Amino acid sequence: MAIDLEDARKRMVAEQLEKRGIRDARVLEVMRTVPRHRFLPAELHDHAYDDGPLPIGDSQTISQPYMVALMSEVAELKGDEKVLEVGTGSGYQTAVLAHLAREVHSVESIGHLHDRARVILHSIGLSNVFLRCGDGSEGWREHAPFDVVVVTAAMPGIPMPLLQQLTPTGRLVAPIGEDELQTLVRISRRTGHWSEEYFGECRFVKMIGKHGFKE
Ligand code: SAH
Repeated sequence: MAIDLEDARKRMVAEQLEKRGIRDARVLEVMRTVPRHRFLPAELHDHAYDDGPLPIGDSQTISQPYMVALMSEVAELKGDEKVLEVGTGSGYQTAVLAHLAREVHSVESIGHLHDRARVILHSIGLSNVFLRCGDGSEGWREHAPFDVVVVTAAMPGIPMPLLQQLTPTGRLVAPIGEDELQTLVRISRRTGHWSEEYFGECRFVKMIGKHGFKE
């Protein structure tokens, strides 16, 4: 028998997010409402609210719910920000960010993931999302500057081109490190300097591109 997806989603928020310390009320509310299963093929719907990443094809994954919540919380969105996301993937984190910010610009390098995310995001009625297919390690110059940049694929080092596309008080949230293990880092721009904070270890698929890992 198919499981009750709405019920599974509420349990996911209580058990995986609240219990582990996610506190931002807006993040919790958005994750109670965005239908994560819609971003997955039908045969994975019953697992959509499980505590882990899931395959979305092409060796790529939809991130674990906790990681989506943590990145969204660390981004400190109040509702008026222009956001750049690098690594659209399934489009799930894009949808979460779109509920938390004014608009989201998201770049994905794999053509058919980009196409599929576009269809799903449109079908759930989000009109503040702008998608591009290409190498997001270079950012999206035409739409810069961004108040917040969220990177959802592992980067080997601090991505200078992405920092350059931040507003004077902007911040970047990204997994930075080796291809097998990274640290979630927030880099905030302040007048005259940058500050760097760390939010624990994480495992993301590699960013492949000019300022990412090489193929
Ligand atoms: N937030 C997504 C995570 C997807 S995994 C989700 O929860 O579904 C990371 C994604 O980054 C993959 O889809 C991968 O194809 C993409 N990616 C890798 N290198 C990239 C690059 N240089 N530019 C844009 N996207 C890239």
